[in-house]
Amino acid sequence: MKNRIEIESIVNKCIKCGFCESVCPTLPAADYNSIIGARGRILLAQFAINNESQQLKIGDSFYSCLDCYACVQVCPAGINAGIVSELMKEGIADENSSEKNPVAEMIKSVVIKFKNPLGIPGECSRWAEDIEFDTSETIILTGDMYQLMPYTRYINKLRKYMDKNIFMAFARLIVKKPYIIKLSRHFYDRKLKSKMESSLKNIVSMLKKSDVKFNYLREDEPYPGTFLYDLGYRNEFTEYARELYDNLKSKNVKRIICVDPHTFDILKNKYPEVIENFDLDIVYYTDLLNLNFRKTKEKITVQEPCHMVLHGNTYRGMDILNNVADVKLPPESGKNTMCCGGPDELLFPEISENVSGERYRNLKNISRKIVTICPLCYNNLSYDEDVQDFSDFVKNLI
Ligand code: SF4
Ligand code: SF4
Repeated sequence: MKNRIEIESIVNKCIKCGFCESVCPTLPAADYNSIIGARGRILLAQFAINNESQQLKIGDSFYSCLDCYACVQVCPAGINAGIVSELMKEGIADENSSEKNPVAEMIKSVVIKFKNPLGIPGECSRWAEDIEFDTSETIILTGDMYQLMPYTRYINKLRKYMDKNIFMAFARLIVKKPYIIKLSRHFYDRKLKSKMESSLKNIVSMLKKSDVKFNYLREDEPYPGTFLYDLGYRNEFTEYARELYDNLKSKNVKRIICVDPHTFDILKNKYPEVIENFDLDIVYYTDLLNLNFRKTKEKITVQEPCHMVLHGNTYRGMDILNNVADVKLPPESGKNTMCCGGPDELLFPEISENVSGERYRNLKNISRKIVTICPLCYNNLSYDEDVQDFSDFVKNLI
């Protein structure tokens, strides 16, 4: 199995204490099915590499991991079950394995063919039709995250009425005929689309007011291949990232402004792993805001993004919020933050919904108003109108 030695060196440190299970959001969300929890993933990986000849049903255990890295924060042995899941997915993706998830295979095929997870790059750039940008070596790169949320929400609504086997058969069909996915452009949540586009416009407006000069590549905006990485397709991701990097260099891009934590994390941390001498400056938009926000007495709580606080990234979003509002955080914050369930939305919608429901209640116990700093978090936690994206919340304070 690919990564055998690396996996072995991690999982053999496990002392089976189970501390990681106390913070792993997928375990209660999957009704305490132990292989859908952090310790179960470690033990299953250990068993799998020692019993390679056996046909084990292991895929769901690793594909359902949210890669939130909450487990490593409490593990006395310093084990990150998220990293183990990533390595195991890479092994599954690399082999001719029956464990490959049809939805993951569908997403891979579509991303490689259309450079967009739903094959709709034109739709994803439409929000900026009326906006003028500068000619600049700095670009804003949305990673299509805000734009894709209305489509994933709609698809998941449809899935509730669809037999799982039919959905999987549909995914397999798209692997063979990827162009079918383009039909998805007709299926989106209208209210959420308008909301997400408004958030992107707010971000652009605030950056402009902060006197930041930047361009937007519109229909040529590349999707960064985040799904390829997250689903374990390392070879495909490496090739994709190199091509995208060369493309950006040919356009004389020197600096990229990201507007969501997933795109920021992949460009900042994963691209340099596969591109020698990676020299693009990656910044998060909150760090460029230079505005005098009005202070408000409003009490808020905040969903901090795992891909920022648990993946070792820094950003100014929380500092800004602490300066302008009365912020109260739940105990599960900072290094103890809890994932919104977003990464499981397409492959394991039930787990995703259980995680998001739990986190929503947890935040609501602290404050009526919830501010999110990631479009996935917004999409998963916006059970009511009192949930607001960071961009919308602070834009109202200018
Ligand atoms: S907390 Fe660490 S050592 Fe304990 S069971 Fe989990 S992975 Fe193993
Ligand atoms: S990364 Fe998150 S979801 Fe995955 S095992 Fe660790 S705590 Fe659980």
